Amino acid sequence: MIPDEKNEEMTLPDKRRGLLLVISSPSGAGKTTLARRLAGEFDLRFSVSYTTREPRKDEVQGEDYQFVSRARFAQMVEAHEFAEWAVVHGNHYGTSLATVNSSLAGGVDCLFDIDYQGGAQIRRLWPEESVLCFVLPPSMKELERRLRQRATDASDVIERRLAMAHEELTHYGEYDYLVVNDNLDQAYSKLRAIYVAAGCTRIRNDALAQALLREAAAGVPVGKR
Ligand code: ADP
Ligand code: 5GP
Repeated sequence: MIPDEKNEEMTLPDKRRGLLLVISSPSGAGKTTLARRLAGEFDLRFSVSYTTREPRKDEVQGEDYQFVSRARFAQMVEAHEFAEWAVVHGNHYGTSLATVNSSLAGGVDCLFDIDYQGGAQIRRLWPEESVLCFVLPPSMKELERRLRQRATDASDVIERRLAMAHEELTHYGEYDYLVVNDNLDQAYSKLRAIYVAAGCTRIRNDALAQALLREAAAGVPVGKR
């Protein structure tokens, strides 16, 4: 049978399945720096969280966070608008469920800078899509130095964050990857490699392989990508 015009135009899926890349760490280890760099290089969506924390001096509404009142946050919890939410360092933080759903529906990768409680929730809800990466400081002394030189928080807040670092570190075993952020460029190249490799797993590219098999079985030329 001669394949008709339509069969020859058979197209392959041009997108693999989207993934959810979670980056967590003790405060000050560098996860925000690394996450922003990755979002700057690749076409992936940074999930802007909602928080009841006060904005820091150079933070921008809607870019760093959606800063909301406690009352508004509570309304959103009631309305099931969060994929996950948690209390971290005394403030409320939550991930928009609509952002995750629309990313997955559109085959867009999504990046989360969230704590271990959020990471565990994302994994529970989307076990096949989630990739969990934990950023470690090279030492606790360096973690303290970074928190102090960042100079974005009052000293009592820094003390609280340092005290919490121990608790956060105990959760490293729930993560797929550990990246030590000593030299920033080296840590970034490791995170980048993890992200690129995660996009190549079989499960994320299964539809493409299946489409190729169908084309091969039909005996028609491989269609346009
Ligand atoms: P987190 O988001 O984990 O709280 P940040 O990304 O805000 O941490 O980084 C904390 C501070 O440490 C920032 O001032 C940042 O510029 C700095 N920093 C990040 N990575 C490194 C690194 N590899 N070496 C030195 N300073 C770093
Ligand atoms: P910061 O106040 O320094 O921006 O963030 C404090 C902590 O809250 C960090 O560990 C950060 O990853 C975490 N965080 C930010 N957004 C969310 C979120 O939406 N959910 C959860 N669970 N944690 C978040």
